Amino acid sequence: MNFFKPLETKPEGSVAPLAEGVAEKVKCLIIGSGPAGYTAAIYAARANLKPVLYEGLQPGGQLTTTTEVENFPGYPQGVTGPVMMEDLKKQAGRFGADIRWGLATDVDFSGGVHKVTIDDKHVIEAEAVIIATGATARYLGLESEQKYMGSGVSACATCDGFFYRGKDVAVVGGGDTAAEEALYLAGLCKKVYLIVRKPFLRASKVMQERVMNAPNVEVLFEHNTKELRGDGVVEEAVLVKRKGEADEKEVVIKIDGFFLAIGHTPNSAPFKKFIDTYDDGYIKTIPGTSKTNIAGVFAAGDVQDKVYRQAVTAAGSGCMAAIDAERYLSEKH
Ligand code: NDP
Repeated sequence: MNFFKPLETKPEGSVAPLAEGVAEKVKCLIIGSGPAGYTAAIYAARANLKPVLYEGLQPGGQLTTTTEVENFPGYPQGVTGPVMMEDLKKQAGRFGADIRWGLATDVDFSGGVHKVTIDDKHVIEAEAVIIATGATARYLGLESEQKYMGSGVSACATCDGFFYRGKDVAVVGGGDTAAEEALYLAGLCKKVYLIVRKPFLRASKVMQERVMNAPNVEVLFEHNTKELRGDGVVEEAVLVKRKGEADEKEVVIKIDGFFLAIGHTPNSAPFKKFIDTYDDGYIKTIPGTSKTNIAGVFAAGDVQDKVYRQAVTAAGSGCMAAIDAERYLSEKH
C-alpha cells in the first residue's frame, strides 16, 4: 500500500484571475486540509460563509500517511487515512467550500481585514481566517525510515499500534510522548523496546516510573538507530550503543514495528509574526475556544493541540473554529 497516495478528487475551486496587485476578497479563509480544516469548511459552508480552503503542502494532512483508521466514529469497519480525508473533502465540497491547491506563505494580520499571501503571489483579504495547518511528526532522517513508511514505520502508536498486537515493536524517544506510546503499545504487543539516546528519560517522573515498571518494556538507554532492515517490511533495527565512546557497539533487535516519538513541529511559522504561540510553536488559543490573540483569526487542530492530537479532536476543534468565525462575522456585520 502506498500511504502517500494523493487525494483523488481534483480541487473544486480555481483562483479567479485578478489584475496584478489586486487582492481577492473572501469572507472566511481556511488554511490547511486535515480533519480540522475540512470540518471547519463543512460547518462554514453550511453557515453560508462561502469558505475558501487552501490545502497546503500535504493535502489531507498527516492522516494520509497513516494506515487504517479504526477509531474515528462512524466507520465501523475502519477506513484508510486517505479515503477518510477524501470523504471529508467531498463532504466540504458538497456544501460549496472552494477547495484549492496552494500554500500560505505570508500573512498580515495588522489590520481589520486579514491578508494572507498564497504561494508568494496571490493575496487574499479575509474577514475571518481559520488556521488548521497541523503539525509534522519529526523523523530521524534515515533512508530506511522512508523506505518502510507504512510498512512497519509509524509516528502514531494510537493510530497504528493495533496492527502490531502480539508482536515486538520499538519506540524511539525519551519524552512523555515516547513513554505514553510505549505504555500504550505494551498493552497490545508482546515486547516493546524504548530506544533512548541519552542515559535518562526526559519524560515526567510518573511516566518514567510506569515505563520502568512495565514488565514487557525494555528501555535501551544510550542507543541510537542506525538502520532498519527487512524484506519489504521492517524485520529488525540496527542500533548503536554508546556512540562515539570507547565501548561503542552495534546491537540488532528483531521488531515488526518502529514507532517515532521524538516530537512534532507545529506548522505555525508563517503566522508567528502576529499570532501568539508557546515556546514550542503551538498556537495559543483562549481556553475552551478557537480564538487566537487576533480578533477574527482562529486556530484548530494539531497546530494548537499538543496533548490529544487525534483526528476526532482535530475535527471537533475545526467545528469550534467555524462556529467561532460565524459568530464573529455576524457580530461584525
Ligand atoms: P519532547 O521534545 O519532550 O521529547 C522528545 C524526545 O525525543 C526526547 O527524549 C529527545 O531526546 C528525543 N529525540 C529528539 N530527537 C531525537 C533523535 N534525533 N534521535 C533520538 N531521540 C531524539 O517531545 P514529546 O512529544 O515527548 O513531548 C512534547 C511536549 O508535550 C512535552 O512538553 C511533553 O511533556 C508534552 N506531552 C504531555 C503529555 C501529557 O501530559 N500527557 C503527553 C505527551 C506529551 P533528548 O531527551 O535527548 O533531547
